[in-house]
Amino acid sequence: MTAPFEAPATSAPASVTGAVRRHVAGLAAEQLPAYVYDLAVLRAHASAVRAALPERVELYYAAKANPEAPVLAALRDAVDGYEVSSGGELAHVRAAVPDAPLAFGGPGKTPAEIAAAVDAGVHRWHVESEQELHRLAAVLADRPEAVVDVLLRVNLPVGAGALDSVALAMGGRPTPFGLDPDRAEAAVRLLTEPVGPLGPVRRRLRLRGVHAHLASGLTAGEQLAIAERIVAWSVRLAERHAFALDEVNVGGGMAVDYGDPAARFDWAAFGEGLGRLLERHPGPVLRIEPGRALTAYCGWYATEVLDVKRSHGEDFAVVRGGTHHLRTPATRGHSQPFDPLPVTAWPHPWTRPAVTTGRATLAGQLCTPKDVLAHAAPAAAGLRAGDRVLFGMAGAYAFNISHHDFLMHPRPGFHYLGG
Ligand SMILES: *Cc1c(COP(=O)(O)O)cnc(C)c1O
Repeated sequence: MTAPFEAPATSAPASVTGAVRRHVAGLAAEQLPAYVYDLAVLRAHASAVRAALPERVELYYAAKANPEAPVLAALRDAVDGYEVSSGGELAHVRAAVPDAPLAFGGPGKTPAEIAAAVDAGVHRWHVESEQELHRLAAVLADRPEAVVDVLLRVNLPVGAGALDSVALAMGGRPTPFGLDPDRAEAAVRLLTEPVGPLGPVRRRLRLRGVHAHLASGLTAGEQLAIAERIVAWSVRLAERHAFALDEVNVGGGMAVDYGDPAARFDWAAFGEGLGRLLERHPGPVLRIEPGRALTAYCGWYATEVLDVKRSHGEDFAVVRGGTHHLRTPATRGHSQPFDPLPVTAWPHPWTRPAVTTGRATLAGQLCTPKDVLAHAAPAAAGLRAGDRVLFGMAGAYAFNISHHDFLMHPRPGFHYLGG
C-alpha cells in the first residue's frame, strides 16, 4: 500500500532531493528500510570536484567508502582510477568498471592477494613494508613477464599538533600503516641499489614515488599543509637516492560535516592550493584518493517510524532498521541528519503515537542502547508513528561497514535513481 504524503513543514536538514523524496513516498512500508541513491547528484558532485582540480592532479576514488557497483560506475567519467584495499575489492571493482586503473593498497596483503593483483595488472602498488616488497618480489620471480609500479606508503611525522583534531589519524603517530621514514629509506635502497637481496627481479619493481594517507576529516587548509609536507619530504627522499619522483599520492580524508550537510569541503581552495604546490614542484604528478567526501552526499537511508514512546520524560521514535544497516552514527558518535516525510494516513482505530516534547531520539530495532541513529533531535518534533524518515549523508561508510546479521532483521532494499 502506498500512503499519501503531506508537504514537508520545514527546510530539509538532510538535503533530500525531490527525486529521492518522491521515490520513497512511492514505496510500500514493507519495502523499507531502503538505501536510495541519487546517481545524478553523485555524477554532478564528482565532476565538480574534478573540475576544481588542476590537470596534473589525478583523482582516485577509495572504493572502501562505498563499493556498490552502480556507484563505482557513476563515478567512472570523473575519476582517473580507483583505490582498492583487498583482493575482494580488487575483483569486485575490476568487474564493475573493467578498464579503470586500480591502485592496490592496504596493510596485511596476503601472498594470494599479491599474486592475484599482479595477475590482474594493477596500475599502482601502495607497498606498506619491506616484507611486502619481498613477498611481491617472490611473486614476480614466478612470473618473468610481470612488471609492477610501486609507491611506498610512508607514515610521515607531519608536525606536532597537525593531526590532533582529527577523528581518524592513520599517520604521524604509531599505527600499523605504511613505513616509518627510516624504513622507507631502507625500502628505497632495496629498490634502487643494483645489487641486493631482491636479485634481478628488482628491475621489474619500478619505484614511482610515495603514498601517504595520514588522516581522515581534514579541511582544505589542513589537507594542503599536509600535502606540502608529504611532497617536500618525497622530493628530498628522491634526491638522496637519485631516483625519479614521478608521483606523489597525498591520500584522501577530505572532511565531511555530519552536523551540517550544507557545509562542504572547499574543493576550489584545495584545487588552487594544489596548483600552487605543483608550481613549486614541477616534477611529479599528484594524486588524491578521497572516499567519503565523494559519495557521502548521494545516498539516503529511508525508513518509517514504527513506534513513538515517552521514556522517563524523553521521546523516542523507533524506526524500522537501525545501526545494523547504518552504523555510521554509532561508530562516529554523531546524530545522522534526517528529513521527516510526514504520512497523513493513519488507518488504525487507536491513537497515533507522536513526539510531543519538541525533540526525540531516533532508535532502531536492535536490543541494545547503542542502536541510536539520531540523539534528542529537534528535527523529530511532531514525528508520528507511520511517518517516514530519510537519513541523509548515507552514501559512504554506511551499509558496507554495518553489522547486518546482528539480530537477523531483513536487509534493506537498494534503489538507484538518476542512472
Ligand atoms: C580510507 C582510505 C582513503 C579514503 O579516506 P576517506 O576518509 O574516505 O576520504 C584513502 N586512502 C587510504 C589508504 C585509505 O585507507
